[in-house]
Amino acid sequence: MSVFTPGRRWQAPFMPFKRTSFKQRALAKIELAVKGPLFGCRMCGNCLLQETALICPMECPKGLRNGPCGGSTPEKCYVDESRPCIWYKIYERSFKLGREALLLEVLPPLDWGKAGMNAWGDVFSQANKVGVANIAAQISQRGSDSVLKVLDTAVFRPVRQPEWWQGDAEYHAPKYSQPISNLERALKDGEFVVAAEVTSPVSVNTDKLKKNIELLKPYVTALNFTDSPSAIPRMSSWACSKLALELNTEPVMQIAARDRTRVGLQSEVMGASALGVKNILCLTGDSMALSPSPRGRMDIVDIDSVQMLWILRRMRDEGKYMDGREIKTPPQYFLGAAASPFASNMKFQALREQKKVNAGAQFFQTNVVLDADALDEWLNEIAKRNILDKVYIMIGITPLKSYKTAAYMNNNIPGVFVPEKILKRMENAESKGNAQEEGVQITLELIEKIKIKQGVHGIHLMAVGWEEIVPRIVQEAGLAGKTQNN
Ligand code: SF4
Repeated sequence: MSVFTPGRRWQAPFMPFKRTSFKQRALAKIELAVKGPLFGCRMCGNCLLQETALICPMECPKGLRNGPCGGSTPEKCYVDESRPCIWYKIYERSFKLGREALLLEVLPPLDWGKAGMNAWGDVFSQANKVGVANIAAQISQRGSDSVLKVLDTAVFRPVRQPEWWQGDAEYHAPKYSQPISNLERALKDGEFVVAAEVTSPVSVNTDKLKKNIELLKPYVTALNFTDSPSAIPRMSSWACSKLALELNTEPVMQIAARDRTRVGLQSEVMGASALGVKNILCLTGDSMALSPSPRGRMDIVDIDSVQMLWILRRMRDEGKYMDGREIKTPPQYFLGAAASPFASNMKFQALREQKKVNAGAQFFQTNVVLDADALDEWLNEIAKRNILDKVYIMIGITPLKSYKTAAYMNNNIPGVFVPEKILKRMENAESKGNAQEEGVQITLELIEKIKIKQGVHGIHLMAVGWEEIVPRIVQEAGLAGKTQNN
């Protein structure tokens, strides 16, 4: 373990992708000799240590550079349970040192052209470009308290925020006024919106999928199509979304960073937008660690969900690809993200949610919530961050079908917490052969409590494999009839 990065293990540093000069190689060796033992440096070549409380984020098995995934817990990383969640540690230390505001800056994905090379060279060149005398003059003008600020503005920020990215910690309001999708229109009109998830098929037979779409569409404003959850291949989200459009139903296309490179992401949303998809939900995606063997690569993703939002928002609002090329006819979509109220510490989660909103998230669909009272704390944290008027929140609800499902979700699904009293109710009902009915009653009670909460704009029903229960729940919860798909 390195001195300042409280992770678990040494990981091999990246190798450069090109031949470099002797001077560059020597500098890289010195940098690794210093930063390796201190920070567990992997020579990503795009150093962010000042932003992350001097803990190297490359210790995260997903390679996330903008905060924890929904599986983060105080105890362990969900991909590799033998080590702590490094992002939890980064948040913990940043809050302790009062440096949490730095975590809001949207940081760029790796420039792999720099991986394996020294990062100090860029810092020295930038200092040289600005002029050491100039930097010293600014410090003497603004006083010794401003040393770090001046250095950051003049040297470190231009290095970590290259021209092609220009990330910041600000909110960027969407640059259009008329709602793009029916979902956006309904939320804007103040309807209490219902969205539901439809499980995508595991074969090319779409009969069941179409049946479920037809069954659910009179009861919802939009249908979500997942993107291979649990890292198990299924029919793609865009194909299901296209089928929904053909059946006059509005889809929310989920897209997971796990399976995308930056190139694939941009191509896919351009295609989806051209086909008529108007709602996109950006996710980091379940890790390959959850998939059946043989497993795909588990140690890095090219882009994280915050970066996805930043890229997609700029494509839409600035008409630019990530590399700066202009898009003559930009894509149009209403952008969403996942929120995970009960993963890790709610203060940490709220900061992460704020970052997503700043990056481009216009609506949240949360992870499964089974404790309406505990939700208040998260909503309070979100309110403190001043984002309640910038994002629509739809609470994720899963009707419980059996005690086994409830226990499984509590023990195995990252970020899901099933209160003891609900586990007990399901266990008792199961012993009387009444589990499904009890599950429906629990769901209705939850909706009753959730729909009066300030800051909540709707629900997102995830009745995985039990879609036929959705119409009953929507009707009995008094939410039928307020939809756009009738
Ligand atoms: S994969 Fe998730 S839980 Fe593991 S270190 Fe990264 S952010 Fe934390």
